[in-house]
Amino acid sequence: MRGRSLKPRDLESFAITTVIAVLLFILPPINAEAKSPRIEIAPKIIRQGDAFIIRVTGTKKSDVPSAAVAKNAIHFSMCGEGCFIGIGGISLEARTGSYPVKIKAGGKRKNLRITLKKAAFPQITMTLPEEKVIISPDMLEVVKEENKRLKSLFLLISDRLWEGGFLSPVENTISTYFGTKRIMNKTWTSIHRGIDIKGLEGDEVRASNNGRVVLAQELFFGGNTIILDHGQGIHTVYMHLSQLHVDCGDSVSKGDVIGLLGSTGRSTGPHLHFGVKISDISVNPLSVLKLDL
Ligand SMILES: [Zn+2]
Repeated sequence: MRGRSLKPRDLESFAITTVIAVLLFILPPINAEAKSPRIEIAPKIIRQGDAFIIRVTGTKKSDVPSAAVAKNAIHFSMCGEGCFIGIGGISLEARTGSYPVKIKAGGKRKNLRITLKKAAFPQITMTLPEEKVIISPDMLEVVKEENKRLKSLFLLISDRLWEGGFLSPVENTISTYFGTKRIMNKTWTSIHRGIDIKGLEGDEVRASNNGRVVLAQELFFGGNTIILDHGQGIHTVYMHLSQLHVDCGDSVSKGDVIGLLGSTGRSTGPHLHFGVKISDISVNPLSVLKLDL
């Protein structure tokens, strides 16, 4: 079989191909600077009242991302070279469904989604002495003032102090889960916005993460209460303590003993009420302990 000789047109296309190949080899990709950052939401499917993480990687140090879910802003901090992390939460009262997560990162706007599934919150009926249920008008005013002050604390967004995962302040079983609807003396209804951890009077209560003490005092419902600010709008709450071992303004490290378990305030026996707030949204502490931070 006779070999085909190269025609001028073949030579021309060979030359063009070679030039393109050389250019591709020596020139950097045109859009190297405009490369999209990688955005990951974890978990992508959550239950009412759960916390979640947004991790942005492959972005510049100066490009702090911003994000919002259900009109709530999520605050970011650095988690390494070109890496930012934000922690968000969705209210236990939020409707189930698919929520848009609006993110601005690396100069680009992206819309991702998170799925909110129904949580099976328990319901319990309790019969308590009337004085444990009824509040006098005077005390109601005190409670309103306390709640106003707490809300202003929970809305403060400070620099990140937390490092790594959050830990359970007391290692024991849970007596009342997050979201439990409690009907007291057939008339009063309350939603439990934290978890009650079983324990004995005097058991050590530890800081769930590094933070700063923003409240250490007696409250009407919570008894001796400590609130830690971990930065990025994340606060942990420890109630019914028998002793407070920290003062307002103190810095604490994860695992430090901050107080002792007790039964102060409106409590029916020794236990720790542990709550977590993210930008004033009460989230399920168990979902926070599970976050991969
Ligand atoms: Zn409780």
